[in-house]
Amino acid sequence: MIKIIKARKYGFCSGVRTAVLKVERFAAEGKKGAILGQIVHNEKVVEKMEKLGMRTVDEIKDTTEPYIIFSAHGVPPSYYEEAKKKGLNVVDASCKFVLDIHKESLKALKEGYHLVFIGDPTHREVIGYTYDLPKECYHIVNSVKQASVIDFGKYEKIKIFYQTTLNSDDYKEVVGEIKKKNKNVEVTDTICYATKQNQECAKELAHNKEIDLIFVIGGKRSANTRHLYEICKKYKKTFLIQGCDDIKKEYLEGVKCVGLTAGASTPDKVVEEVEEYLKKITSE
Ligand code: SF4
Repeated sequence: MIKIIKARKYGFCSGVRTAVLKVERFAAEGKKGAILGQIVHNEKVVEKMEKLGMRTVDEIKDTTEPYIIFSAHGVPPSYYEEAKKKGLNVVDASCKFVLDIHKESLKALKEGYHLVFIGDPTHREVIGYTYDLPKECYHIVNSVKQASVIDFGKYEKIKIFYQTTLNSDDYKEVVGEIKKKNKNVEVTDTICYATKQNQECAKELAHNKEIDLIFVIGGKRSANTRHLYEICKKYKKTFLIQGCDDIKKEYLEGVKCVGLTAGASTPDKVVEEVEEYLKKITSE
């Protein structure tokens, strides 16, 4: 049987746990709601929500249920008003760390800062921070190349915020590029504790000499799972899987020890299933 070593810390964070619990309690009360965007970026959690009668919609206007549920990633502040206008009740499952960035960035804007968000412009969390803002108030960048063509020097002062699930090591050069052009730059470390812990422990796992191969378990659209994958694959052969179905037996040829970690939106149950499955197929 193969040896399995799990990361010291992996999986569900407090924001995801709270969001899922909120929807489960809501469903248990017999209420009907639609979730705007995936409640968390994990297909198995989304399936579970659908079984509870909570379908996922892409836009507020697609909601026919009496309630709309805002996911852990948060929404632009104007969405609360838009939902109200449509006669919808809001169940807000936005993570408190995301809401803190909303508050902090709006405060910085009032204080005269130009805002820079380092992150993925197509991710719901980043859309939440920027959608309502006038275009000239902010930039979203995620590479040195992008930062290099922006005239940051023309702003009096700049405040940088990170998407909560990034790996800050990967963006040091982007911050450096902005600082080269403007001497008045403040960086707010908004990468959340759960992301940092999971990343640190993934790095530890990847440096473990005993481990031949790592499986990172999580949703295809989960940014934090993808970052764990990127960290691990720098040092070890690594596969990003959603669950047991993605494990091919040939991956395990000649492998004596497997490392396991999982994104902040991956339920413990999925990790347990993978562990059991690996034990089963390697003892056959
Ligand atoms: S990863 Fe962090 S910011 Fe995102 S939901 Fe979890 S606790 Fe909140």
